[in-house]
Amino acid sequence: MSSPKQVDPYFPASGDPRYRVHRYELTLDYRPGPNRLGGTARLSALAGPEALREFALDLADFRIGRVLVDGKAGHYTHRAGKLRIRPARPVAADAAFTVEVHYSGNPKPVRSQWGGLGWEELTDGALVASQPVGAPSWYPCNDRPADKASYQLSITTPSPYTVVTGGRLLTRTTRASSTTWVYEQSAPTSSYLVGVAIGAYEKVLLVDADPGAVPQTGYVPTGMVPHFATDFGRQPQMMRLFEELFGPYPFDGYAVVIADEELDVPVEAQAMAAFGTNHLDGARGSERLVAHELAHQWFGNSVTVADWRHIWLNEGLAKYSEWLWAERSGGRSAQAHAADAHRLLAGLPQDLKLADPGRKLMFDDRLYERGGLTVHALRTALGDDAFHRMLRDWATGRRGGVVTTADFTTHAQRYTARPLAELFDAWLYRPELPPLPGARAGWLRFGQESRPA
Ligand SMILES: [Zn+2]
Repeated sequence: MSSPKQVDPYFPASGDPRYRVHRYELTLDYRPGPNRLGGTARLSALAGPEALREFALDLADFRIGRVLVDGKAGHYTHRAGKLRIRPARPVAADAAFTVEVHYSGNPKPVRSQWGGLGWEELTDGALVASQPVGAPSWYPCNDRPADKASYQLSITTPSPYTVVTGGRLLTRTTRASSTTWVYEQSAPTSSYLVGVAIGAYEKVLLVDADPGAVPQTGYVPTGMVPHFATDFGRQPQMMRLFEELFGPYPFDGYAVVIADEELDVPVEAQAMAAFGTNHLDGARGSERLVAHELAHQWFGNSVTVADWRHIWLNEGLAKYSEWLWAERSGGRSAQAHAADAHRLLAGLPQDLKLADPGRKLMFDDRLYERGGLTVHALRTALGDDAFHRMLRDWATGRRGGVVTTADFTTHAQRYTARPLAELFDAWLYRPELPPLPGARAGWLRFGQESRPA
């Protein structure tokens, strides 16, 4: 199927598959008033099997100061979001090299069919949500989900602001009226998943009585703290359930930011998620989204799509995690949720191929619902015990890695003697909606008939 070495079929202009980056060190200064961002990005990279006379980074409209490759000035052109660099001497095949880019400007979101992506100036601060191609709005990167790297992120900003990003806070140093926040994310991270929030936040700890629990912190606008305490009050319980179901939480901690604005949808980032004020109501009205974003830490962030054709692996599993949380926390069963989703999809056009929806439909609501249903069909076919082992082994065995739909279907097949090809073909590769799984007949009967003697 797909090779992580190819360009992304949905975003062929993004990324450069001829090399990979294994570490980013971003040293940036941000002034919220004038919305000014500047600094240095230092990338440690590895060339592929061919020497590089030139290579490209993705970077939006900034003023470029210097570009150094292995410490020596390189020639570059910067147009249409591509910074094309010609090193003084070609980088040898398979050689390690460093790139340093000095840049500054007024960051703004990358325009897309889904609205602005990436660095967004808020009324008082900034928020980064880059999925899928917004990362170049604020730093030079090899913008492909398969190219995962560790990150050190140093951001200096006026002292009243808090800087939040996924990862461990190494130091926080105040000089004059500015504060420098240095974070380290050592887990492999896709460029689109580097989240940042800068604003006036109150820090709220979500306490779990278990001393071994994953540290969970809220960053909340003052005044929203009481609502937050209710709306996210069951997140520690959710974390425990997901660790039981999907294996150990893959990062050091989990930061939840409530941006002081309304957001259409919450967004996941590495070890972090951002919600809007509209997701708080003091009555847990958006709790399914709390579960959804948390589940992405396993499905999407730790186990990442090789390219965007496989997006259903992120969204289908996150959707199904909503249903699992509901079922296990005294709410409605996954079967009831599946029945709702099925009814909904039955009344909508059936022109979406889940395993390759196309760029236009990759975030279509139908992809989420059908993704959840596909996971439910699999659960129905495998039975609960094998299904849960399958899911846990997937998240733990592929931790930090990059996957395709074919990897997932091959993996799932190992958990049953019953051939799953027909199930996957119907749910993943054909647009028509198959019958509701788990409802008396459907795949269960098919499976029993097909079971080897
Ligand atoms: Zn999602």
